Amino acid sequence: MAKEVSPGVLALRKVVDDVHADARKAKAEGKLVGWSSSKFPCELAAAFDLDVMYPENQAAGIAANRDGEIMCQAAEDLGFDNDICGYARISLAYAAGKRAARKFDPETLEYIIDPNSGKPLKDENGKVVMGEDGKPVKDPKTQQPYTVLVDIHEIEAMPDGPLKDKYWESVKPYRQMRIPQPDFLLCCNNICNCMTKWYENIARMCNIPLIMIDIPYNNTVEVHDSNVAYVRAQFDAAIKQLEELTGKKFDEKKFEQACANANRTASAWLRVCDYLQYKPAPYSGFDLFNHMADIVTARAKVQAAEAFELLEKDLEQAIKEGTTTTPFPEKYRVMFEGIPCWPKLPDLFKPLKANGVNVTAVVYAPAFGFVYEDLDGMARAYYKAPNSVCIEQGVAWREGICKDNKVDGVLVHYNRSCKPWSGYMAEMQRRFTADLGIPCAGFDGDQADPRNFNAAQYETRVQGLVEAMEQNAANKEG
Ligand code: SF4
Repeated sequence: MAKEVSPGVLALRKVVDDVHADARKAKAEGKLVGWSSSKFPCELAAAFDLDVMYPENQAAGIAANRDGEIMCQAAEDLGFDNDICGYARISLAYAAGKRAARKFDPETLEYIIDPNSGKPLKDENGKVVMGEDGKPVKDPKTQQPYTVLVDIHEIEAMPDGPLKDKYWESVKPYRQMRIPQPDFLLCCNNICNCMTKWYENIARMCNIPLIMIDIPYNNTVEVHDSNVAYVRAQFDAAIKQLEELTGKKFDEKKFEQACANANRTASAWLRVCDYLQYKPAPYSGFDLFNHMADIVTARAKVQAAEAFELLEKDLEQAIKEGTTTTPFPEKYRVMFEGIPCWPKLPDLFKPLKANGVNVTAVVYAPAFGFVYEDLDGMARAYYKAPNSVCIEQGVAWREGICKDNKVDGVLVHYNRSCKPWSGYMAEMQRRFTADLGIPCAGFDGDQADPRNFNAAQYETRVQGLVEAMEQNAANKEG
């Protein structure tokens, strides 16, 4: 039976579908479509009614659809180093016109099925059907064509006809592989400095304007007034650039409305995150990860605020009824540190499920809760991204989340892609382990490139964490 999906989750899915559909429609109508870093102040673009896509969110989707490796490799073949963030590599390959596509025979135009793809065939009793070779037989309905790389510029140059049409059709049909090429870029380096070079490269490659807001790493917990003035001046400059780009005057009313929507969305999102504090939790941090597309792509839209408010109601109901989306009894609660390995979500989940470990705290999700009252506050809020705050602030955030969400341990993703995040984790891990007395385990992985994750190492680390949490619980009881 299909899993029942709550009204809030359905509404959130529709919000993201609409953002993508609107951008594709805008492009088809000859309007401008931008690409933006996820923590660029989206309120500015919203004041100009611009359609914007978010390459980080796109790259996560491509990775979750198992096309991270072919796109990362495509970027490497273009000369980008394997050590660059996987999101950046996927996005750079996409901007260059590379697409993951389904292989077909150019003579017959039929797709060529990969015999290794698909799920095992099950009989009427739900048992896996075994073949003569002793291996499970594949269900033909779930089998997919081989994945190959195509280039949209090469397709565009082909003569019109069925072959060209087939090439266009062969591009994988999920929405992240179909986002429009950018006409302008919005970049804010509060996320990391890789972002700056990534967007500069796309601007050069596609010969399009780049609007940059520089929010440097902040060495102090407070954001000083001089920093605020520096960023406010850049907001003014960005508005001028957007006026030139669109030929429109800045609409203050629309901007105020976008800020009100963004605050309402962020507040509802933070309240949703707080439902993980319940014991047992009505859902898991993995569910939160699934809703990040909304907070990234649509936080200045009223529909996103309404959808998160609906999700809050669902969660309230779940608390009353004692239900949860987690498909196992919650024995241990952990904080998951870092960005998940999107191509390997089932592998991440399996040992957690086997050991009754629920992810009831995450750092990545609430980091998008930008709440502010005025323009100075907005500048201050955008200073507070995980990689742009000092270690004291980073430790305080994590310790607060660990306490509020009552975790028994911490699972740290040493993410090869995200060096600014992973680099200070060892010290941070040492500090909050000492302060809170809870065990931590780290594993090596990557948010987008599956070549950097080893399921066996991960399982061993989870096992070690479970044993340490068990011992901790026994010591407390003793
Ligand atoms: S913050 Fe990390 S994951 Fe995000 S773009 Fe920068 S390096 Fe990549």
